Amino acid sequence: MKMKKIFALLLALAMVFAFAACGEEAAEGNGAEGEVVTYKAVTEPTFPPFDTTDENTGEIIGFDMDLMNAIAEDQGFKVTYTAMEFDSLIPAVQSGSADIITAGMNAEDPERQEKVDFSNTYYDSGLVVVVKKDNKTINGMDDLTADMKVASQIGTTGADQTKALFNDGKIKEAVILNGFDTCMLQLKNGDVNAVIIDQPVAKAYMAKQDGVKIVGDVLNAESYGFAVQKGNKELLDKINAGLQNVIDNGTYDELIEKWF
Ligand code: GLN
Repeated sequence: MKMKKIFALLLALAMVFAFAACGEEAAEGNGAEGEVVTYKAVTEPTFPPFDTTDENTGEIIGFDMDLMNAIAEDQGFKVTYTAMEFDSLIPAVQSGSADIITAGMNAEDPERQEKVDFSNTYYDSGLVVVVKKDNKTINGMDDLTADMKVASQIGTTGADQTKALFNDGKIKEAVILNGFDTCMLQLKNGDVNAVIIDQPVAKAYMAKQDGVKIVGDVLNAESYGFAVQKGNKELLDKINAGLQNVIDNGTYDELIEKWF
């Protein structure tokens, strides 16, 4: 009889714990001493070398993942990575269904800063115009004309730039697509005249694939940061501390060497 009662009690306890584990929070682990917390990071993996997919394993890899993993190791937490479209990243962190955005995201955008909190920046970047290699008429943004179509990725600073050109009547159509890879495909097929995209990503693409070129100057200055839910100071402090440590101990430079 006594054994039965103890068993029932243990069962009840186990159920309570199992239930507690089903909470809304994206982060796993309750932070109890010795327990490693796992944060859920989200990204849009058509953005190499920052965010891409391993062709063989299907795993999400890139400079952003390696850097965040190094930060996590330094700070004693773990991270998992989930893919989604770029314009879903901020809503995911706002709603708490994800903890961190690791997506080559420009942190110096006031509209984004109202919605999420950004870490210290980890990479300086900017946008460029990309055209087909044999194009002789477009030598920079000023050569785009009212009969042209320009493609960019949804929710990105490139899309903002492309839409601004359209709104100013400088181009015929802003073609806003889900992935950077689709933008490049449309360019190569001649469906659009140009693509506006981040310079390091355009350069990485050109290093692997022929047929396109960057024209003109860099259009803006932007710097990438990791984003967390507004007010999640605990996580932001860990990311900033870890980022500083991996810069100081040379890991950051090793990762730059590896990916660029
Ligand atoms: N840097 C750009 C932005 O922040 C594009 C990022 C991306 O496509 N992953 O909007």
